[in-house]
Amino acid sequence: MSQLFLPFPETSELQYRVRENRRAKRIILRITVARGLEVVVPSAAARRHIPEVLAKNRTWIERTLRKLQDERRSASGKIRFPPTTISLPAIDEIWQVAHLPIAGTKARLRQLSGESLELAGDLRTTEWEVLMRLWLITRAQSALEPWLNRLSQRTGLQYVRLTIRLQKTRWGSCSAKGYISLNARLLFLTSELTEYVLLHELCHLRELNHSRRFWRLVEQFEPNWRHLDRALIAAAGTLPRWTLRDRD
Ligand SMILES: [Zn+2]
Repeated sequence: MSQLFLPFPETSELQYRVRENRRAKRIILRITVARGLEVVVPSAAARRHIPEVLAKNRTWIERTLRKLQDERRSASGKIRFPPTTISLPAIDEIWQVAHLPIAGTKARLRQLSGESLELAGDLRTTEWEVLMRLWLITRAQSALEPWLNRLSQRTGLQYVRLTIRLQKTRWGSCSAKGYISLNARLLFLTSELTEYVLLHELCHLRELNHSRRFWRLVEQFEPNWRHLDRALIAAAGTLPRWTLRDRD
């Protein structure tokens, strides 16, 4: 696989087939999924012009072969391409992601000013996903912590520690020690739903179960909890795939 990421070889090393067709008026280049690069020549004598024609069309050949390769790979479903925008409704942010593909170098992610990110390096591996997930966790940490603190003050429910993770099956959890854990993917939900999850976990500080007492407590702060709790289940299906690890 690694050879796919190497800089493109010189045209002299290009793999191609030659086909003679007397009706062809000149040398024709063709690139197809089935046969790759094919050179159609009007006569055997015209073969000597092939290197010249390849050199002249090098940019087009490289671009087309690469596009073909990308199509094959995305069709196989193994490689996912990075998004160009990341919408985080919970905190009302829309991030632009600029792609700077550089073959053969490790992927790098930079947060620029404003709501913009830059992904550079080889974007044909899954490295960019790892970087984006780390970024998402950091973004969630700085957005959800003050939010949880505000709710904690409003409700008088005090937690001990907050951890942000990318859990696969839970939006959040709360332990008997008062540790709250929140899913970074909450940022993809509406602010109403996110706030409900934060509130739900805070209420577990007093009732570590889903008893009637627990729901009564939730209802004090969020009368619409039934609707929100149901909406959460539907929301799980709308998350970007890159937020999940492959083994998830
Ligand atoms: Zn619960």
